[in-house]
Amino acid sequence: AKKQENNSFRYFDLQMEKDINARMSMVQDLKRAIENKEFEIYYQPKVELTSEKMIGAEALIRWHRPEHGIVSPADFIPVAESSGLISEIGKWLLYEACQHCKTWHTLGFHDFSIAVNLSPIQFRRGNLPSIVSKALKHADLSANYLELEITESLFIDDTEHVKEQIHAITAKGVSMAIDDFGTGYSNLNYLTNFNASTLKIDRSFIKDLLTSAQHLHIVNAIIQMSQVMEIDCIAEGIEDTATWDILKSLGCQYGQGYYWSEPLPYKEFCRLAQNHIKH
Ligand code: C2E
Ligand code: CA
Ligand code: CA
Ligand code: CA
Repeated sequence: AKKQENNSFRYFDLQMEKDINARMSMVQDLKRAIENKEFEIYYQPKVELTSEKMIGAEALIRWHRPEHGIVSPADFIPVAESSGLISEIGKWLLYEACQHCKTWHTLGFHDFSIAVNLSPIQFRRGNLPSIVSKALKHADLSANYLELEITESLFIDDTEHVKEQIHAITAKGVSMAIDDFGTGYSNLNYLTNFNASTLKIDRSFIKDLLTSAQHLHIVNAIIQMSQVMEIDCIAEGIEDTATWDILKSLGCQYGQGYYWSEPLPYKEFCRLAQNHIKH
């Protein structure tokens, strides 16, 4: 037994060493990634459920890591966050996404808005409001076309510092959406405290809407609450017509998901929007 224990410790040591090395090399590669233009933004349409009209898109980052292929944000965002690199990456993305949105307007996709995901780390330095302003100004994009998606985890600590910045940002006319709504912190006070204008119902509730009565009740309650509070509601992860129809009948205004389109590279997104406008 003793011998086995030693072996398994040794195994964990080796595994841990491997993990630490992999993480360190990812940090090194991430440092060079902006300079080398290895990031790309994919865009997923946001659609009004009743009219099926496209109203804009969510920006979702991808990393073309040399010798690794496309790396999903789920795999590198946590490393970018713990190393602090997310601030630099997030700033680049905000500038790029605002410019793309401006181009959509000139292409005739009138009133398309752009939603950008923010990490709580981006609120640390306190300069987020000024970064947002500069990105809008640089793209000559009006603030009401930009929506920032934040998660409930942002409200757990450092509330005053975060609140001040959110107020400064919303005062400019930028809107805030609560992403992954229903999965995190459950104090609902922040909905009013933080001027949220949209609730984004998490995919975990949407994906089994047809089979889980419990999730149906939760989704219904979220939609009802958003209506009473006059906050917009968007469902993420809609993959089929039946789910689309249920959400529509429950009074959910907007939706996003593979049923309509996967996230697409910029040019493909523009092509999709072009066809959409024509029909
Ligand atoms: P999220 O913000 O909740 O984004 C939704 C995720 O669900 C995206 O994954 C999207 O591709 C995926 N999705 C959309 N529709 C469907 C569907 O119908 N079915 C299924 N199964 N999935 C769907 P993605 O692009 O891999 O992003 C994962 C997460 O990474 C995001 O979750 C977000 O938290 C984070 N992320 C992505 N881009 C950024 C970014 O630019 N900055 C930050 N801070 N986080 C980002
Ligand atoms: Ca999001
Ligand atoms: Ca989500
Ligand atoms: Ca998420």
